[in-house]
This record gives sequence, C-alpha cells and structure tokens, in this order.
Amino acid sequence: MPDLPALPPGSVIGIVGGGQLGRMLALAAGRLGFDVAILEPEPDSPAARVAAHVIVGAYDDPAALKALAALAQVVTYEFENVPAGAVAQLQAMGVTVAPGPQALAAAQDRFAEKTFLNANGAPTVAFAAADTSDEAVEAVARIGAPALMKTRREGYDGKGQRWVETAAAAARVFAELGSVPVIVEAPADFARELSVIAARGRDGATAVYPLAENHHENGILRRSLAPARATPALSDQAERIAARVLQGLDYVGVIGIELFELRDGTLLVNEFAPRVHNTGHWTQDGCEVDQFEQHIRAVAGWPLGPTAAIARVEMLNLLGEEANAWVRLAHEPETRIHLYGKREAKPGRKMGHINKVKPL
Ligand code: AMP
Repeated sequence: MPDLPALPPGSVIGIVGGGQLGRMLALAAGRLGFDVAILEPEPDSPAARVAAHVIVGAYDDPAALKALAALAQVVTYEFENVPAGAVAQLQAMGVTVAPGPQALAAAQDRFAEKTFLNANGAPTVAFAAADTSDEAVEAVARIGAPALMKTRREGYDGKGQRWVETAAAAARVFAELGSVPVIVEAPADFARELSVIAARGRDGATAVYPLAENHHENGILRRSLAPARATPALSDQAERIAARVLQGLDYVGVIGIELFELRDGTLLVNEFAPRVHNTGHWTQDGCEVDQFEQHIRAVAGWPLGPTAAIARVEMLNLLGEEANAWVRLAHEPETRIHLYGKREAKPGRKMGHINKVKPL
C-alpha cells in the first residue's frame, strides 16, 4: 500500500455504505476536491444525495463491486460489517481497501477483537468465548456472575447483549441471545466512558484526538463532551493504546476506540470501530482537522492533519422527532447543526447531531 501514489484531487473515492457517516465522509472528500462513489442497497440514502456516483446494490453483489472498482482506485467504508468477500473481490480487481481486511475481521467478532487487543498490549475486561449452552455455563463459571453475555457478531447500540445475574441463568441467557456464539465479559466498574479517535496514514504516521466523555441512553449515544477532563497521564494512556491498536492492525484511516475509565484511573478498551465514529462528531467544530477529513486524507495517502482542539464541544445526537427542532436550534449562536437528510424520523433513529461550541 505505501507504493500507491497519493490520490490527486479529481479522483473518485469509493465508500461502501450510504448512511450519515458516508454522507459526512463524502462532504469532507468534496472539500478536498474528490468525488465519491457510494455503494448502498437502499436508493435515496443520506450519502447518495451528496455523491457524484451512486451504485444501488447489495454490499456483496459482484456486479455492483465491479462497477465500484471501475470508478474508484481506493475504497473505504462507513460500517464494520462489510462482508469479507466484498473486500477480497475489490482487492482482486486491484482496488486498495482501507482500512484493510485485518481491521474488519477483528472488529466483526468480539472474541477476535479482545484477543487481538490483549495480544497487542491494550487491556480489556476478562472474557471467555462460548459456542454452546454448556460452554456458556462454563464461561460464566470461569468469569463469575454477574457477567455480560454478548453475541460475538453483529451487536451494536447495546443490541445482542444481556446481563447474566447468576451462574444459574447462563443457559437461559444463551438461549435468549439466539443460541449463537457468544462472549462472556466481566463487568467493568467504570467511572466514565471515554473514547479516543485516532488516525494512521499510509506512511505509518499517527494522529490522536483529545479524549471524549460519552453518555449513552438505552444503549444509544446521547451526548459527548470534549475535550474530556483528563490528566496528562490519562491522555498518555489513551494515546499509547491508540498507537498499539493502529500499529497492530497495520491500519490506514480513522478509528474509534471506546474506553472504560476505571475508578483507579486505568483505561480498558471496550471495543473499536474501524471507521469514523459518532463520538468523534465533536471534531467537526472542535478540532483543527475533523475526523471525516482526516479519514479521507489517510485513505487517499495524503499527510494527516493536526488534531488539536480549538473549542470545547458538547455533541448531542438528535434522535427521531428531535431533529424537528431545527428552527429553535438555528437561533442558538453556539449551536452548529448537522442534519443527515433522512426522509423518515423513526423513534431512536439518528437524524442529526448538534455541536454546542464554547471557547477552550
Ligand atoms: P458495546 O455494545 O460493547 O459497545 O456495549 C454497549 C454498552 O454496554 C457500553 O457502552 C457500556 O455502557 C456497557 N458495557 C459493555 N461492556 C461492558 C462491560 N464489560 N462491563 C460493563 N458495562 C459494559
């Protein structure tokens, strides 16, 4: 990958996925003079409406991938469940896919992810994998109840996970999760949930954003405060973790790493997303170069931009009907509005976000 020359403005960057992250990546790409090609099964997606090229098709549809490869030399994605076969097909056609398949494989499987993290010096809670009901009982016995049982694959926003309050409940919870492969985790007794957004360029250079403090409701991110209150030692820990993860994955692009801050100030990694991240939206109005431009710079082989904070930001997600308050929000001088152009406001659906900006 380092041999590929930097993509000049005017080139097309492919993006798999047409949601809000794809849309904001496309807008950032446009600012740098790129066009984007979106691959997305839904017609009229948020990203498609700001893109020069749109391919409507399944993520693993060979004809759609061929059309994408005909347009774009570099392809990235906005979600971590891109099928491995799709990446392999793109690579076979000479396309550079960034971040690479190693990052996707680790992010798609909670057991592979935590195993990778520990092997690379990034600490996590204790965990054990289980494929059968008997193994689940054994795993809970080993980790100790209460424990959190999560499906190994395809969980998001708190879905696909349940607490196991007592050892006796292990088999029932395994069945409730669908009797699919799971991971059993020890509880993290955290004081705060933080995240670190970081980037690695094709040349191996890294850049790390200040920490964000995150608050969830019903498993969905509600609010981020950034830069989070942090001692230099805490920020150092986060930077070390980010560097190890990026290096270990031979990563190119922006990554979002979710952290637990324990009461003694130790950081544990909960999980990472191999893409731009909701807890990094504050960077749009709070940092020199935001996470979306940074990701485009990285995958295009450009130098990374500076990540220092230029403001304090409270980021609030606008869920469902909350986005209808845009008139009121537009009256607030400290509020920067980011709407995703989604046609239908279903309850809990991320329709947009605001960044409330204050001086540092
Ligand atoms: P996840 O789907 O892994 O991001 O988890 C969603 C949320 O569940 C996290 O943001 C935490 O609030 C909580 N959570 C996840 N894993 C643990 C754990 N091992 N201990 C305590 N809380 C957890």
